[in-house]
Amino acid sequence: MQSITVLGATGSIGVSTLDVIARHPDRYRVYALTAHSRVDELAEQCIRFTPEVAVVGTAAAASQLSARLQSAGLATQVEFGEQALCDVSSAAACTTVMAAIVGAAGLAPTMAAAYAGKKVLLANKEALVISGQLFMDAIAASGSVLLPIDSEHNAIFQCLPLNYQRQLGHHGIRKIVLTASGGPFLDRDVSTLDQVTPEQAVAHPNWSMGRKISVDSATMMNKGLEVIEAHWLFGAAPSQIDVVIHPQSVIHSMVSYADGSVLAQLGNPDMRTPIAHALAYPDRIESGVDTVDLTKIAQLNFRPPDYVRFPCLKLAFDALHAGGSAAAVLNATNEVAVEAFLDGQIGFRKIPELIDAVLNRLPVEPVTDLGAVLAMDKSARLLARELMHQ
Ligand code: NAD
Ligand code: MG
Repeated sequence: MQSITVLGATGSIGVSTLDVIARHPDRYRVYALTAHSRVDELAEQCIRFTPEVAVVGTAAAASQLSARLQSAGLATQVEFGEQALCDVSSAAACTTVMAAIVGAAGLAPTMAAAYAGKKVLLANKEALVISGQLFMDAIAASGSVLLPIDSEHNAIFQCLPLNYQRQLGHHGIRKIVLTASGGPFLDRDVSTLDQVTPEQAVAHPNWSMGRKISVDSATMMNKGLEVIEAHWLFGAAPSQIDVVIHPQSVIHSMVSYADGSVLAQLGNPDMRTPIAHALAYPDRIESGVDTVDLTKIAQLNFRPPDYVRFPCLKLAFDALHAGGSAAAVLNATNEVAVEAFLDGQIGFRKIPELIDAVLNRLPVEPVTDLGAVLAMDKSARLLARELMHQ
């Protein structure tokens, strides 16, 4: 029986995770659920899954949640704050952590799970982009099992050989090919991109996701972060990672081998598939997702990405080439820029402009410890806010 902490339980990935867990009460029980501010949703989830611990962002949210749970007769312990998130990710009573907080806020608890040797199901790509080698070292040192939830990386994992050792050449692999939908603005006139609204940007054609990752999909920074994620997860050099636009989101990614074979994983665009895969690995379980009907889809299209339309993808490749703290700076600036765009403070095209400006101004430092990376993250956020209105 796996005993699971779901970090970010009220989010899109959190809700899909609980949907899969609920289908298999014989395999999984919930140890802890966490949410930042959505107390009502978290209370409903607690009543349904009766976790031992629930964690929220603030003392005020914790007292609201406690009152709700007490009146429902639940014994769930309620905590708040970052240390509590780290505690439920490393507790002896927890075997598996679903890391599904959005952004750098998920870094500390995801690292805590890695240090504690938990089975880590990684949706929170930003945590790996920021910490890179430090995270992979923590996983290796503790003997954690790390399984990717991001649909592309989960697809690649499924197409790699069983004994894969994070070196493409040793296994006769030429390339990793990440597919990208291209988001809602794939065919929009580039000269009109600055007029797009937050609501248009979050209206993804194929996937239903949180607002931040939806904007990242519209700029293709999401694919950029995924390139960096693939670098760390699979030991792939930037030149060994290709990005292909595939608007239908049916092929979730591919691995290209030296003999000319290309292995792909296909499925309906529903995150319950990679979640169920990672939860049950190496078994296969029911996820609630139907098999993709290729006769209904009829066509699968592909095209190369366009850096004029999607400068964020190039910025991410450049940051990966630069190494060191560049990826953390890219991520931090992107988080600030996306939030400002969603708040109506800046236009859509300002997102890549701001990231470029901050990357150009901050030096690339070696990533030696988490403190150094967090200091770079902070400097990048400050500079991004300063440059935002210039
Ligand atoms: P979401 O916005 O729907 O949910 C985010 C969750 O994180 C919520 O439960 C929220 O309460 C919590 N949270 C937000 N800020 C927090 C903070 N400061 N402290 C603690 N908790 C906080 O996001 P999502 O779409 O579920 O994405 C979660 C992660 O999974 C992201 O890193 C995203 O890139 C990744 N991911 C999502 C999808 C998808 O289909 N949604 C696919 C691949 C990867
Ligand atoms: Mg993805």
